[in-house]
Amino acid sequence: MHLPGLHHITAIASDAKRNVDFYTRVLGLRLVKKTVNFDDPSAYHLYYGDQAASPGTLLTFFLWDDLPRGRAGSGLTSAIAWSVPAGALGFWRERLRAQGVAADAPLTRHGEKVLAFTDPDGLPLELVATNESDPRIPAPHPEVPPEKGLRGFHSVTLTVGVEERTAAVLTQDMGYRLLARKEKRARYTIGDGGPGTYVDLLTAPPLPRGRSGLGTVHHVAFRTPDDASQQQVHTALIARGFNVSPVMDRCYFRSIYYREPNGVLFEIATDGPGFTVDEPLAELGRHLQLPPWYEPNRAAIEAHLPRLD
Ligand code: ZN
Repeated sequence: MHLPGLHHITAIASDAKRNVDFYTRVLGLRLVKKTVNFDDPSAYHLYYGDQAASPGTLLTFFLWDDLPRGRAGSGLTSAIAWSVPAGALGFWRERLRAQGVAADAPLTRHGEKVLAFTDPDGLPLELVATNESDPRIPAPHPEVPPEKGLRGFHSVTLTVGVEERTAAVLTQDMGYRLLARKEKRARYTIGDGGPGTYVDLLTAPPLPRGRSGLGTVHHVAFRTPDDASQQQVHTALIARGFNVSPVMDRCYFRSIYYREPNGVLFEIATDGPGFTVDEPLAELGRHLQLPPWYEPNRAAIEAHLPRLD
């Protein structure tokens, strides 16, 4: 089984307008899709990414303002990290401070500087200034020069109770391998490695079980090239005893879901058909897109959603 790395990460936020402002204006990502939760069309599902909405750059949000706040802990994703060029953290620390976002001095992890902060809902975020090659191009932004911008995901950190259990899924069932270990953080990678492939498993300090809610990650999605490769993964995971969902049509990709043994919800998503399936590249994110089965209810759905502009 070969999965090329992270596809998207989906988190939960409250205020849609504030969410758009933070991720597009402050962090410089592009809003690449404005749609609704396919299981709950009363809520937005917003996607941010690079200019082309490439897999590996996509952070998405369910906007559920009536949920209680989540609680960090074991069985949850504890940080989302983007790759930025080496030397970019001074710019970001200053920019975040100017926007009222608290960020401590960068810490060092696996020899690289990491700037940690949270989004307006308390979701833990990181920028990793990496010396590794990363050819991905940040989305253009009037205030963020390209040599400072967010290039796509660097890594995701999962807080787990028993590292071996998640490690077994990653290495035996998904094709990952252990890359490095420092104290209670173990880094796994896959394929050619590099930014966008890393999964860190963190086991210290031991935490009680986390609770999903506002400001937490809902699930982590891994890439698979196409439907045929996804089918192979699906068959293999079921043979391994996982309770895997059927293939779900998410319009922009097709997905299967399963929970790893420490409780983190994993998804495996196809690279295609991609985000230009219902609007041209130049207009990504500009208009509310609905899956065909909700189109007849467009007027009612639009009337219920908060305005973003
Ligand atoms: Zn997903």
